[in-house]
Amino acid sequence: MPIPSIDSDFLVDFLTRLLNTPSPTGYAERAIALTEEALAQFPELRLSRNRKGALLAEWPGVESGSPRALTAHVDTLGAMVKEIKSNGRLKLTQIGGYAWNTIEGEGVAIFPSKGGSPLRGTVLLSMASAHVYGRQVSESKRDEETIEVRLDARTTNAEETRQLGIDVGDFVALDPRVEVTNGFIRSRHLDDKACVACIVAAVKAMRDAGARPVQRTHLLISNYEEVGHGASTGFPPDLTELVAVDMAAVGNGQTSDEFHATLCVKDSGGPYHHDLSQRLRRLVEENEIPYKVDIYPYYGSDGEAYWRAGGDVAVALIGPGVDASHNYERTHTEALVATTQWILAYLLS
Ligand SMILES: [Zn+2]
Repeated sequence: MPIPSIDSDFLVDFLTRLLNTPSPTGYAERAIALTEEALAQFPELRLSRNRKGALLAEWPGVESGSPRALTAHVDTLGAMVKEIKSNGRLKLTQIGGYAWNTIEGEGVAIFPSKGGSPLRGTVLLSMASAHVYGRQVSESKRDEETIEVRLDARTTNAEETRQLGIDVGDFVALDPRVEVTNGFIRSRHLDDKACVACIVAAVKAMRDAGARPVQRTHLLISNYEEVGHGASTGFPPDLTELVAVDMAAVGNGQTSDEFHATLCVKDSGGPYHHDLSQRLRRLVEENEIPYKVDIYPYYGSDGEAYWRAGGDVAVALIGPGVDASHNYERTHTEALVATTQWILAYLLS
């Protein structure tokens, strides 16, 4: 069967809504719920959650003897309130791995654990004003000591900030700043919401074409990937293979780009499963899907999380090229469509 056609408007629209739904690791419930709502449109999927809060879907196939799984994660980088400073501003602790300078100047939402609406603020260097601090603005090292959140609320001391409802441990989400131009999607957190959208678009394409996966397929939308253990659990014991769908790393020396899907054959966790990778490679070749093969120098995936937890399955990794990852990211619709086509070719093989 030829690869079903993909509704790329649907893909980009769902992705935009998902990007605009804050979901730092540990506080990803809204993004899980939005994805659940999208997948609930396809009654052929049996949806559930595990106790950890990940979204699971069982998709009956023509056959059931060699069940497969696809996983992508909705949790993202973010922060938590570490400390309320004596000047009323906030110190942060990072959620996930990133450089402090990549969030400087970004707008944030702080979600009070006491309840109530989120507060707004900006991530700034504590010595931010050029007219006051001169060279220190460019020369200060950006770290947890020098970066703070300036709240858009009247407060000049810790007590006033506590009165606003803010406390240590409150989640902080970075503004994604989504912009779609000429097919490019520029946003934070394309890692890995782009791939969640590819999976949802693949389900829709199968439905629109009246197609069923060849094998029973399990989807796992993970909520703890950025801290390393997202998909370490949640798969059925008879699973035979897992394809993790996550962003491809673009940069100097990399083959990946924003217009192709990439097969990652090795990352910081070592090589992926060779036979499964080779099969995926044959599938893109046969279907003339634009792809690259690459190695990611500083990278781990939820596929490896499952391997480390003892998962006895073949694991491979594919995904769209994302520029400036764990920073203000960007990809192109062509890479998303290619990734979705690859997923479809796999489901139908
Ligand atoms: Zn990721």
